Amino acid sequence: MTAYVIDEPLLNTLPVEGESKSFPVRRIYCIGRNYAAHTIEMGGDPNREEPFFFQKNAQNADTSGEFPYPPESSDVHHEIEMVVALKSGGPNISTEDALNHVYGYGVGVDMTRRDLQGIAKEQRRPWEPGKSFERSAPMTHLIPVISIGHPTKGRVELSVNGKIKQKGDLDQMIWKVPEMIAYLSRFYDIGAGDLIMSGTPSGVGPVVRGDVVDAKIEGVGSLKVKVT
Ligand code: MN
Repeated sequence: MTAYVIDEPLLNTLPVEGESKSFPVRRIYCIGRNYAAHTIEMGGDPNREEPFFFQKNAQNADTSGEFPYPPESSDVHHEIEMVVALKSGGPNISTEDALNHVYGYGVGVDMTRRDLQGIAKEQRRPWEPGKSFERSAPMTHLIPVISIGHPTKGRVELSVNGKIKQKGDLDQMIWKVPEMIAYLSRFYDIGAGDLIMSGTPSGVGPVVRGDVVDAKIEGVGSLKVKVT
């Protein structure tokens, strides 16, 4: 006898380097346009305006190394992003205190049904169909702060079938990790289990079935994803 009237939904978890225990995912916040060059390529203004965030679903995080091409789209784009994993949170966190809430970091790809996102933008509707779909957040295991510290600099590079498509550096983020945490905490009770995908450099582009995507962040890790 369980406590629930239906089958209990599975908690999604991420492996953690050097740990037998895993990290339970609660929410996934993603920042839009956090690298100037990508902001320009998406038709935005790279000046420091208020940041904006959208969510993926906790279930969308996926460490299988496989990305099944999603339905209802013929233009799925890769966006390499550093993943920030929180161990605690609360409302109104200061930038000075923000990093104390970080458990660890990883490398992720914000897979995007660009065609559906474009329709949503045109119609002033939510980005949800473009961003929050099954396995839309391939990522690595997490590396705890105790072994990695807080990366602020390092090459960010994504290649498709060996050809480099995206290139940047963590130090080019418009909104830094402590600022993102502080900002989110003004609006939400962020907390343990939350992930923040910290934005992507320029060079986003399509993937097709059979592609092999290599996403690397210097000092953080690397992720290989096969599009199936
Ligand atoms: Mn993104």
